[in-house]
Order: sequence, then structure tokens, then C-alpha cells
Amino acid sequence: MTEITKQLNPPPRLLLGPGPINADPRVLRAMSMPLLGQFDPVFTDYMNETMVLLRRLYRTENHWAFLVNGTARSGIEAILTSLISAGERVLVPVFGRFGHLLCEIAERSGGDVRTIEAEWGTVFTPEEVEDAIKEHRPRVVALVHGDTSTTMAQPLDEIGALCRRHDALLYVDATATLGGMEVAVDAWQLDAVSAGLQKCLSGPPGSAPVTFNERVTDVITRRKHVEKGIEPDGFVAGEGSRIQSNYFDLPMLMDYWSELRLNHHTESTSMLYAAHECARIVLDEGLAECVARHALTSAALTAGLRAMGLDLFGDQAHKMAGVTGVVIPQGVDSEAVRGCLLEDFGIEIGTSFGPLKGHIWRIGTMGYNSRKQNVLTCLAALEAALRQHGFAGNSGAAVDEALGVYRDAGQ
Ligand SMILES: *Cc1c(COP(=O)(O)O)cnc(C)c1O
Repeated sequence: MTEITKQLNPPPRLLLGPGPINADPRVLRAMSMPLLGQFDPVFTDYMNETMVLLRRLYRTENHWAFLVNGTARSGIEAILTSLISAGERVLVPVFGRFGHLLCEIAERSGGDVRTIEAEWGTVFTPEEVEDAIKEHRPRVVALVHGDTSTTMAQPLDEIGALCRRHDALLYVDATATLGGMEVAVDAWQLDAVSAGLQKCLSGPPGSAPVTFNERVTDVITRRKHVEKGIEPDGFVAGEGSRIQSNYFDLPMLMDYWSELRLNHHTESTSMLYAAHECARIVLDEGLAECVARHALTSAALTAGLRAMGLDLFGDQAHKMAGVTGVVIPQGVDSEAVRGCLLEDFGIEIGTSFGPLKGHIWRIGTMGYNSRKQNVLTCLAALEAALRQHGFAGNSGAAVDEALGVYRDAGQ
């Protein structure tokens, strides 16, 4: 039983799966900073700074931009459970696993959920979404931006406007795209958006940045009920039904993140430091520069994979910048190749679920990991691992091709 008291000592790994990624060392350093009390003015200043940073990251003038404590799905759940009252119509266009997750959370919130589905590896046209809105007349449309399960990104620039035309609120799950692809909350008229840290924001899982506008605030404030024991004098509850979750009750979180500082949970101190640093790092690099870096990584990686003789999965015109789907070649033992990458090279790549299980690998190059040296290392290692397991690609071509892409980009 002495074993159990041994210190944890995780092996060095290059995390090139669909998340989590290797956190930026600056984020890990921020997490080791001393704790503060939740109402210490220094800490509440940090909360306010985090709101400012998140607004810039989301490219929004929304007042409400803050953290929900928990992994990315805590942000999804906070928004959907606060927004959807029992029996309300919700439309979810599903083009991968995370669309199904939105359905599940919307159903648990009491929503009357309708779906349209696109084949995995494709996305929807705005017309398809509009036709479904006309047919189902939803109060809320819930949509994934980049679905890591299929590596596809749904274009959003026209969806917000058409939701407004039909008087629906639009929620978007931008977990895997914020920081890695354009997410223009105000310009695209997205009413509520959530994300996580462990994808393109270079942090660990455990904090969910959310933002939402006045249209959403109006709806959820009507459902506002404050816990007995902390109600301010003269508080009158909203006429709407009480939000079923206490932890994910956005109006109570808003009171905590406002100058009222009405106590709710204890903000996760170290995760706030992490989220603050994640946002700061992206903005310090420049949001546009960060997005361009993800795009260049994607171009170099896909060029290299093709040169090796591999096929890419899905509609490449709508591929996410941070995740790449690779068709597992015929006759290759997928798990043997992944095992070789992990054990011999210390590199993790992802498998897939649902209809894509056993059909594609997913290579993530997100956030801190979206770098030239990782692209080259990954291509060289994958080529060797495939050669060990019966697939002879075009030897050396992948790394050369990727280097060429970087050279053409002046890097
Ligand atoms: C990774 C991912 C999530 C993950 O949620 P967690 O709770 O952090 O595991 C949610 N949505 C999308 C689109 C994702 O890619």
C-alpha cells in the first residue's frame, strides 16, 4: 500500500487529440499563484478583468461575459437550462456528436426538441436551417460551431440574422473554435455562446467562458428566483418558472458577477487565473494572428497527410482549423498505430465515435499545440508508425510538403 502515496508523475505527452491539449506553460504557472478570498477586492478586480478579456475574445459588446465553473458542457448546460422553459420548442441542427449533446441537454431542460440531421462530414446550408425554422417555429435554435467529432465547422454568419427574422434565439457551442477560428458574436448576431479552455484557448478543462446579450437577459430574468437566505431586501421573484438547476442558474451567476456580488458558489480561484491567462495570451498574440496560425497549421498538416498518401475525412471546404480527420487506411490496425504513437513517440491522437468509429483518426492542433514543430513531428511519427504496421506511404514526402507550406508562408 505504499504505492498509493507515491507522487503523481505524468509522462511527457504531446496531446494531438481532439482535446485536452497541452496547456501553455504560462497558464499552468498562473494556476499555481496564491489563492485569494472570493470577495477580496483584488480578486473581484480579477473577475472584472476576466469579463473584459472575454468580451474581446468573443468580439462582443455584451455586458455579460463570465465563467461558469466546470468543463465546456457546464457552459452549455447553464445557458440551455436557464433559457428553455418546460415545453418550449427548440431546434437543433445536428451534424455530429455534440449536436446530439445539445439535444440531450435541451430535452433534460424540458424543451420540446426538434432536429434536422446532416450526414457526418458535412454541414448545413442557411436555407436548410431556415426551412427547419419555418417548419418547427422554435423559440431557441441551438447549434454547434465546430463539432470535433466530425472535424466540421458550421458557417454561422447568416444563421443569426435568419433566427432574428423568425424570432428565435440562437445559442452556439463554440467550445472547439473560440481562439482557433473566427467567432464574431455581435457581427453574426449570436445571442448566447459558450466555450471551454482545453481546445484552442491553451488551458486545462474546468472553466467555461459564456456570453449572452440583452435578448437572452430579458428571457432569463423573467425566471429569476434567488435562494432564501441571500435574497436582497425587497427582492421580487420573476413570474417565469424557476430554473431547475441551482448551480447553473444564470441570473444568480449574474448577481455574483455584478457589483452586487451576491454569493452563489465560490468561484474556482485557480481556474479563474487560468481562464484570465488563456484569454490574455490569445489577445496578446492578437485574435486574428491566433486564428491565422491555426489556419496555417491546418494547411501544412493536411498537405503533409495527403503527400503521405492518406485521405482526409469530410467536406474540406468546411473543415475545422484545429482538428483534422484522417481516413484510416484499409488493412491497418488502428489501435496498433495509435499505440505505437503513444508508447514510442509520446504522441496522442484521437479515435472517433458513432458512425466514424474505426473509420477515422482525429488529429488536433489546437491552441498552444498549433505549431510548426508539432506538425512536423506528428507527420514524421505517423509515417513511421504506419510503416511499422503495414502501410507504406510516400517516404519523406509528408514532412517535405509541410515544410514547403511553411516556406511559402514565409516561416
Ligand atoms: C470538446 C467539446 C465539448 C467538450 O465539453 P467538455 O465538457 O469540456 O468535455 C463540447 N462541445 C464541443 C463542440 C466540443 O468540441
